Amino acid sequence: MNHSAQTKPDYERELRRAGVRITRPRRVILDILAATEDHPDAMEIFQRASTIDKSISLSTVYRTMKLLEGMGAIHRHAFEGGPARFEQASGDHHDHLIDLDTGDVIEFHSNRIEELQDEIARELGYEIVHHRLELYGRRRKASARK
Ligand SMILES: [Zn+2]
Repeated sequence: MNHSAQTKPDYERELRRAGVRITRPRRVILDILAATEDHPDAMEIFQRASTIDKSISLSTVYRTMKLLEGMGAIHRHAFEGGPARFEQASGDHHDHLIDLDTGDVIEFHSNRIEELQDEIARELGYEIVHHRLELYGRRRKASARK
């Protein structure tokens, strides 16, 4: 899914509303998250931040990610077999397929899956508040692909 087509959330305004001071490292990390379209882990965010500001430490990155997650400004994904990955929270819902060989994270959305989940929950007497769906797979060989 193309995140760039969406209006990016104004993290700074959200933070100020929450009474959080916008320090230099926080600003750098916020800018990185707003610009990225992948699902970087804390180390990758730290590496990108370091190229902009050498004084930003890994622990600052961890602290900032935790703060943003608590505010609902970012989503934290605990995909199997790797570190937590982050992405900015956006209005449109999507699920993820993780490539077990490359670690690539592919986003998808299926109305059929969404409807089916609602249907199952309704039958069980529930209303879905939120859900996570992760598919883990390997690329099919070209000959096997139909
Ligand atoms: Zn995603």
